[in-house]
Amino acid sequence: MSPRDVGDLERFVRAWDGETIGPHDLLPAPGRIGSDAVTRLVRADVAAVIAALVLRPPLDAYFARVRDALSDGDWTLGVCPFCGAPPGFADIVEDGRRRLACQMCGGAWPFSRTQCPFCGSHDTEQQVRLELGAADEGYFIAGCRACSSYLKELDRRTRWNGGPALVEDWGSPHYDVAARRQRYTRPAIALLELADLG
Ligand SMILES: [Zn+2]
Ligand SMILES: [Zn+2]
Repeated sequence: MSPRDVGDLERFVRAWDGETIGPHDLLPAPGRIGSDAVTRLVRADVAAVIAALVLRPPLDAYFARVRDALSDGDWTLGVCPFCGAPPGFADIVEDGRRRLACQMCGGAWPFSRTQCPFCGSHDTEQQVRLELGAADEGYFIAGCRACSSYLKELDRRTRWNGGPALVEDWGSPHYDVAARRQRYTRPAIALLELADLG
């Protein structure tokens, strides 16, 4: 974390303690996470990490009662059907379908394997798959040349003993580093944002 980020976080804490900003300022909005008031205080990607840390426990509990109401096929967009955040991770599940995971509220929903969830492109020639070597079998980075976004994915048919999406995501910052070296960015929440690895 840079000295500038530390100063920004101090201003964020002062605003939070002074109740100039509150939990509602950390909710997802179209194309971003956090209100103008928050993103004036800290970088947008840092705001997204703070939002996940603060809001995930209450949002997870809040939406628990309605998760089962979402049937496959009900939702085809690339944002979380529960809280509106962009996906933070993807799982390839037993039947070969892709499920996107929301790190903000713990939600998950099925999504096409041949479409970019961030820009909606169906152009398979724009979709790239980056693998990191035999030791990381089952893990890969799904990149989109159309919008330069990426998402980390785990094929659970290969890695049946993988952890929850949040653990897998935040436990694999080396994939984020590899994706950034290829000039892909991530509009979702990456713990890497709090480190100086990228
Ligand atoms: Zn969500
Ligand atoms: Zn895209």
